[in-house]
Amino acid sequence: DVLEIEVEIYKADEMYKSGMYVNVIKEAFLRRDEISRILEDVSGRQVSEDWMPFNPLCDACGRITSAIVTGYDIDKEEAYYECECGNKGVASFTGGGKLTWRVDWAARWKILEVTIEPFGKDHAAPGGSFDSGKRIATEIYNFEAPYPIPFEHIHLKTQAGEGKKAKVTAMSSSKGTNIPVHEILEAVPPEILKHVIVRVRPDKHIDFNPALPLLYLIDEYEREIGGIGRGVAGEIPFRHLLTLVQIARGDFSNLIEVIKRSGYATPEGEEELAEIRKKAGYAENWLQTYAPPSLKFELQLEIPTEELRKLSELQKNALAILAQKIQDGLNAEDWHNMIYDVASATNIETKELFKAIYMALLKKPSGPRAGWLLASLESEFLRDRFESAAEIEEWKEE
Ligand SMILES: [Zn+2]
Repeated sequence: DVLEIEVEIYKADEMYKSGMYVNVIKEAFLRRDEISRILEDVSGRQVSEDWMPFNPLCDACGRITSAIVTGYDIDKEEAYYECECGNKGVASFTGGGKLTWRVDWAARWKILEVTIEPFGKDHAAPGGSFDSGKRIATEIYNFEAPYPIPFEHIHLKTQAGEGKKAKVTAMSSSKGTNIPVHEILEAVPPEILKHVIVRVRPDKHIDFNPALPLLYLIDEYEREIGGIGRGVAGEIPFRHLLTLVQIARGDFSNLIEVIKRSGYATPEGEEELAEIRKKAGYAENWLQTYAPPSLKFELQLEIPTEELRKLSELQKNALAILAQKIQDGLNAEDWHNMIYDVASATNIETKELFKAIYMALLKKPSGPRAGWLLASLESEFLRDRFESAAEIEEWKEE
């Protein structure tokens, strides 16, 4: 039930085959001399005169580092090569070979608009590939190099009961576990990881708890630094999005409806939709991997009749009154105020009314902020649900 995508993990081979690299390969050929000078500057090693930034894939022996580029044609988007195995061939810029490693790294930042890059410490040494990548990115590709995170692992502090990962940890060790950075980045937006890292300034590893403490950090980031994601995505707090993706039950077009009902602007164009999809992917992955059970819920499409038999007459009466007051277009604050008004008008403790609302919708006595939850649902659905809940007969022992 992931929203059609998980966080995008690009495979280099697929990126080359899809043509995403064609422009950066052209640029690399055209500016070969400058790149070769950067590599010499940074590494202190001489680069041979026939060096080319491209490694053709030999179509006879299948190796990728055995051929020498003998020429290229920018318009035809292909390079010509001779391989150690004796084969001479043509390598397309679309999947026929790859940029050499240091050039490839910088080119990938540009293509994927990478803003944060975790990598092993060996690459971070002076004269290492991050240094050359940084210069190639800015001087050749006119792209600001991403924020570097030169370490291998992040040490996760977890406690039993916080998501499935925590249970695994609790069994193997009581101190927590090391998780590769790329795995964390499946559930945590990169801005947030960067924020964590800047705050703690780690030398070897950082300790962080990816469950509730992470969510507080995200709240803080959004409050003090800014929204995560561009357009409408950036306006929806991550914590609120956790509610919205669960209401959408894994369906992206449903999610867009839920977002609109919640009072956000209609996302316009592919780019805004892609931003929402990306942020929703983080929210879903975080819920699956790290969220405590208290933040998870399932919207009940069928009324949970048996559980609702336990509601008191006061609770049912309040739900009936609430149903009468429902109108289209109520926002979270309207809902919040209305619940308090109805509770006081019907002589019921507010928390008892909240409990009844959550039971009727989620089959559990607590849930996300009620205003958010209710504003994101259709008024007709809510009216039906509360009216039906109010009519359920109390269960009596014979
Ligand atoms: Zn060959």
